[in-house]
Amino acid sequence: MPLPAQYEAMSDAALEEAIWRAKEALGERLVILGHHYQRDEVIQFADHRGDSLGLSRQAAKAEKAEYIVFCGVYFMAETAAILCKPHQAVSQPVPEALCPMARMANRREAERAWQALASVWGEDVIPITYQNSTAEVKAFVGERGGAVCTSANAQQIFEWAFRRRGHILFMPDEHLGTNTALGMGIPLEEIGLWDWADSPDPCSLAHCRVVVWKGFCYVHAEFTVEDVQRVRAQHPGALIVVHPECPRQVAALADALGSTTGIIDFVAQAPPGSTIAVGTEWHLVNRLQKEFPDRTVLPLARRACATMGMTRMNDLLYVLDGLLDGEVRHRVTVDPDTAHWARLALERMLEAG
Ligand code: SF4
Repeated sequence: MPLPAQYEAMSDAALEEAIWRAKEALGERLVILGHHYQRDEVIQFADHRGDSLGLSRQAAKAEKAEYIVFCGVYFMAETAAILCKPHQAVSQPVPEALCPMARMANRREAERAWQALASVWGEDVIPITYQNSTAEVKAFVGERGGAVCTSANAQQIFEWAFRRRGHILFMPDEHLGTNTALGMGIPLEEIGLWDWADSPDPCSLAHCRVVVWKGFCYVHAEFTVEDVQRVRAQHPGALIVVHPECPRQVAALADALGSTTGIIDFVAQAPPGSTIAVGTEWHLVNRLQKEFPDRTVLPLARRACATMGMTRMNDLLYVLDGLLDGEVRHRVTVDPDTAHWARLALERMLEAG
């Protein structure tokens, strides 16, 4: 939806000044959460910046705030809406900012996979969904005794699941699920793929311990073995760290795998003077280079998330001006039944962590 013309006509300096003024006027009634992949011009206003796990925790803790404004993509704002208290309202400055991967799984397809796998595993299976999924998929998982995970705690949640049942159905990221299972010593032959666009024969997956959904993040799935080889040739001695949403072939060649927070820690702990090539969203890599000027931080290849980059200062100011007038613009809500089951899946993650 286009913004009113006056917001588009403002200069960057005027926008910046107006946002700081609105923040000051709203004081403790407002908390702005910003994902690391946001533009620099937007992230500067975040009271808390972080990855999806850190921001879920902040959303659950921000009890004093009346308004939570989430600068990220839709599933993140939905998660905040699920975890917040009844007196709080969550807004997302650009409601059209969706995560394509989250949209690769839905409840109907999840139910189909669940029933097919139940025909070979019976009740000995637990569903786990990545945080990057819709509220309805989180609710599906919550109803069946499963939990949410993030890239920071996926292994911990897989271990939690294996203490309860013998098999895992993991949605919706093939690569995070595969890298996590491989990292736990599960052989590739015991990791199956649920191709939801096809109708896999469940008998062909009966021997697997983990079945991963055929979904992917287009930003991370595009890093290639050739990217790693090129960086190694051009920067001998460079350390390479990649996000676990990258394909397993890329992960296998990297020096380390790291969630968003893990990548930040990796760069922070690298010795001054070192060169680090990072396989994740470009805005974060670019910011890390500015924050650590005594080391060289390079993108493994320049890949940006289009929807994460949709939020601009103009959009943020539009929402904040509404709050100053007592109007919650671009509010994100989740229906009570979905929120109940999704919250259970999120709480299991937060407790397990
Ligand atoms: S970076 Fe990937 S997982 Fe994150 S919002 Fe963009 S498409 Fe989704």
